[in-house]
Amino acid sequence: MSTPAPSPALAARTVTCPACGGDSLYAPSNRFRPFCSDRCKNNDLGAWASESFRVPEDAPPDEPQFGDAKFR
Ligand SMILES: [Zn+2]
Repeated sequence: MSTPAPSPALAARTVTCPACGGDSLYAPSNRFRPFCSDRCKNNDLGAWASESFRVPEDAPPDEPQFGDAKFR
């Protein structure tokens, strides 16, 4: 099996996008590889980022409510 495959120079391979599982162009032209798009790339980064930084969305920030009712 020493026959070199007739691979086109810098042929674009198609890999599976880790983010959406779709086809991703693994080529120098795709700077988001192995992701298929910048959206998927940011999606993946945002995923683990939100895992580390869990922001309580429905919990209001702790505001000092010590009877300082100057705004009411
Ligand atoms: Zn994708």
